This record gives sequence, structure tokens and C-alpha cells, in this order.
Amino acid sequence: MKKINPLGVHWLILSKTWDADGARHAIREAKRIGYDFIETPPCPPDDPVTRIVAETLAETGLGATVCLGLAADQDPTSPDPEVRARGEAFLIEAVDTCARIGGFMVSGITYSAFQKYLAPCSDQGRAAAVAVIRRVAEHALPLGVEIGLEVVNRYETNLLNTAAQALAFCEATGMANVKIHLDSYHMNIEEADIGQAILTAGDRIGFFHIGDSNRGYLGAGNIDFAPYFRALLQAGFTGPISFESFSSTMIDQPLLGILAIWRDTWEDGGDLAAHSFQVMQALVKSAREAHARAAA
Ligand code: MN
Repeated sequence: MKKINPLGVHWLILSKTWDADGARHAIREAKRIGYDFIETPPCPPDDPVTRIVAETLAETGLGATVCLGLAADQDPTSPDPEVRARGEAFLIEAVDTCARIGGFMVSGITYSAFQKYLAPCSDQGRAAAVAVIRRVAEHALPLGVEIGLEVVNRYETNLLNTAAQALAFCEATGMANVKIHLDSYHMNIEEADIGQAILTAGDRIGFFHIGDSNRGYLGAGNIDFAPYFRALLQAGFTGPISFESFSSTMIDQPLLGILAIWRDTWEDGGDLAAHSFQVMQALVKSAREAHARAAA
């Protein structure tokens, strides 16, 4: 996306389902609010819904990503080659869907299963995941699709919990279209120093998720967002920023259980999405003002 810091929203805020009607509604609503792009789920490339998504994105001029978390039987860190192959095939398919809808990135927990692990990742597991991501990135390169590695908290993966771990993993793939995806909700749990973590990831940051500590309305949790936006500016990050939030009113199992969403943090996704668009715009502007005054 050419615009500086295009703003996006996760589809599950605007629709409970990703069928023809749900997808059309979410895309048109995101556009109406003012967003530049929407994060969409990994629908198969030849699914009729993918065609409708592509048409509705073209009609609205909205950009898109495909966001996902791999299942246990698709785990790229698994010692079982069949499990790893299933994960790789699923990622390749997500890249094809992304290209078909005109999207720019496949991101999320693309490098391990999206689950709580009971032991650390082994060296062999990490090496296997690096190899999977490298091959998927090679497939994505000529299609103009980037692969994001979302750094998440310890309860959702055992592999990439910090920006420093993600940077090392990214470099190990040797692929320029593999990017780090940071998320304020997870960083708030795992990073010792927010500004330092963002500067460490530096120009390998390709995507940023903003979410509050309780995953509800921005500013209704305990995260102070100003340091995140100032550090992103300091790191020279001009890429996409997207709002992610989950409420038990909108999601079902297995996502509800993996994310441990036991409470309603909101009921009206349209109101939430409009609010977060204003908050994100204000945070980007505040950081630019602070930066300009500091330099003056
Ligand atoms: Mn996230």
C-alpha cells in the first residue's frame, strides 16, 4: 500500500461470518468508516466467497491481508513431516487467496501452531519452521505478497514471543518478503522495553496490530499507546497498522477458547471500529507532532 501508515481493521469486528453477505458487509462497513484495508480469514482460493471478496474489494478500493493461525495438525515446528507439509500447503493456499483478492500480506501465527505449548520449541522445530516459511515466501515473492510473523504471547506460541526472536527468525529465512508483525496486546505481556523492542525489529517490521490489554475498546484497557506510536515513527515504520479486538459476542470455538475470550468487551462492532479508527488516526498524528517538535 502506498499511503503512509494505512489503517486497517480485523474482519471479526464487523462480521461474525465470512460468507458472501458477511464479507460484503464487513468490507463495505470498513470502507464507510474510512479504513484503508481489512484483514480477512484464509478462505480457499477457489471458494465462491473469495471471488465475492475480490469483487467487493475492487468495488470499494480497499486493501486486504489474509490473517491466520495454524492448527495443531498444521504445525511447521512438528517433528512429523506430514504435519509440517499440511501447514506449508495451507500457507501456500493462503498466499494464493491473498494474491487473488489483491491483498498485500499473509500474516498471523504462520510459523507454529496457534495454541498453548507445554514445552519450549526445540532447535529442530525452529529450523523446520524456518524452512517452511522460506519456501512459502519463495512462492509469495513473484505474487507480490509478504509473509508476516506475528509475535505473540507465551500462551499462544512457544517460538516467537519477542521482537528479538522474530528478527533472528526473519534473518534465518534469508527472504526479504518475510516481515515482523508486532502487536501491542502481546508486547505489553512479553517485552521488557516497548521502544527498544520496536527499534530492534526496525526496518523488518512489516505490520503492526494495535489492541488494548483486555482486547476491547482502545483506551479502555491499561496500555499507554503513545510510546508504541512514537517508537514506530522513530523506527521509520510507514507500513500498515490494524486494529484487532475480540469479544465473546462475535467469536465461537475454537478461536474463543484459544484466545481465552471469556467476557464481552463490546457488543457493537460498528461503533467499536469507528471509535478505533479515530483513536488510531489521533495516535499517528500525536506521534508525528511529538517527533516534529522534538526535531525543531
Ligand atoms: Mn494480533
